Amino acid sequence: MGKIARLPLHVANQIAAGEVIERPASVVKEVVENALDAGARRITIDVGEGGRSLRITDDGEGMSEEDAVLAFERFATSKIQTSDELWQLTTMGFRGEALASIASVAKVDCLTRQRGAERGTAVSIQGGAVPVVKPVGCPEGTTLIVSDLFYNLPVRLKFLRAAATEQGHIVDVTQGLALSNPEVDFKLVINGREILSTVGARTLPDVAASLLGDDLADGLIAIDHTARTGRVWGLISRPDQGRTDRSRQWFFINQRWVRHPLLAKAVEEAYVGHLAGDRHPVFLLFLDLDRGLVDVNVHPAKREVRLGQTQRVFLMIKDALMEGLGPRRHEACLPALAAESTGAYGPWPDTTIEDTASAARPHPGLPRELSGLRVIAQLHSTYILAEHPDGLFLIDQCRAHKRWLYEQLAAAQVATYPLSVPMLLPLSPAEAAIAAAELPALLRLGFAFEPFDEANWIVRVLPLLLPEAAAKPTLRALVSRTQPAGEDGLRRVVAEHAAMKRGEVLDLPRMVLLVERLQQCHQPLVCPAGHPTGIMISLAELGRRFLKTDQ
Ligand code: ADP
Ligand code: MG
Repeated sequence: MGKIARLPLHVANQIAAGEVIERPASVVKEVVENALDAGARRITIDVGEGGRSLRITDDGEGMSEEDAVLAFERFATSKIQTSDELWQLTTMGFRGEALASIASVAKVDCLTRQRGAERGTAVSIQGGAVPVVKPVGCPEGTTLIVSDLFYNLPVRLKFLRAAATEQGHIVDVTQGLALSNPEVDFKLVINGREILSTVGARTLPDVAASLLGDDLADGLIAIDHTARTGRVWGLISRPDQGRTDRSRQWFFINQRWVRHPLLAKAVEEAYVGHLAGDRHPVFLLFLDLDRGLVDVNVHPAKREVRLGQTQRVFLMIKDALMEGLGPRRHEACLPALAAESTGAYGPWPDTTIEDTASAARPHPGLPRELSGLRVIAQLHSTYILAEHPDGLFLIDQCRAHKRWLYEQLAAAQVATYPLSVPMLLPLSPAEAAIAAAELPALLRLGFAFEPFDEANWIVRVLPLLLPEAAAKPTLRALVSRTQPAGEDGLRRVVAEHAAMKRGEVLDLPRMVLLVERLQQCHQPLVCPAGHPTGIMISLAELGRRFLKTDQ
């Protein structure tokens, strides 16, 4: 007899829910996005029990009885019918799985009435069971009441953070959605207290003022810049208004609030020389790009998008910001790196670098050994040889790559990608204990790794820099210790596994790219283990060894 069996529907839905509904804030995001797609102008979010009870009311178009039942089935959507439409999306939703996911991990009541309809419909559904449908009197629009979130997933429940943390995430999500929809009145109520409201605000500056406070909002500069690639507009902070953290930075790509660490870097680069090194800008940036350039179907919770022509978008943002910030300063930045693809050894953008000396532009603070380099050749698939004004500089390719990866993993937001098929990893109780202890650090490094059942943990998301094939060995190395390694130790292990190996043959553009990446590091001359990444053989030394007397 075969050993493969189809998963029961409610189990499949719960697995899917694990990706879409990570925490209470995910429910808020999905349900509010549905309200926006339904054309709502007023949305109220009522939160209790640290987000385990939610009531979200909208005045959108509502649903018929038939639709209100179908809405809870997986892959049931009114938003797309063909895969081509994925590239022309005008709605926030399209996957047709949010409501099914929520209903599989919570008790849900939906009250909905279509505009102009005589009566409404109530649908109650628990843990993905058969829905109970009744006619009811209710206002036009839709109210979704979610209670006992994760009641049937004790492990997920155990990993929920303190109520204050979960509420903080709900505030973040609501702010993002409110900022990207200034014309909609948002109200967030937590434990009966109104936490934020954008009622009456109709423009981005008004909404920003009501959410961020007048002090901060008054110091924002409006920018608007159009280029061949698209348009960037929004609000950015004046150089003297930098903050010590990055919590006030928002990107909206085609009105969708997304994380994009690489584009955030474009912004930070534009501020180089304007802001003190330990300060971060505030920004609310809207990118209007050709829909065909934006792949929104890369993250189950749609928090990330993949862009075509990242390099151009990067430059467009930087230009827009520099224009907004005033006179152009000395150009200190190296070409941007597109950390988008996940090739065999971390992202190698199909690089367009043609000139082997493109790494030669010095920037202030770069160690002397690393400026003015021109890549010449690779030696024994191990070292990169580069001409230096003072002699020859030899770079150990693996160590250089590890250094770069290690520093990338220290970014405030590490770029991630979801696995198309989540991976199960059997862990012994001792390994599971180490994994549990490392969990917060693993999350920060971009892993979504969590207990699955008694014997296994499941990996759903990886840092972008870690190739899928390296995931298991990396996680094995991480958990097979006797003591937790801590965040810095983890970063080292991940860099170790994600880095290219000795013997990797590199063509010229890849070598140039690697050297440029090394030049962008804060500590370029040592690998994460403290060994040299490169050594210099000076002209003077060569002269001595050739017994030249004239030098
Ligand atoms: P998606 O948003 O990806 O289509 P969902 O599971 O979130 O999938 O919702 C399924 C469908 O239910 C939507 O396509 C929409 O037709 C309907 N729906 C959900 N929420 C609302 C709402 N608040 N108002 C009107 N229709 C809704
Ligand atoms: Mg939806």
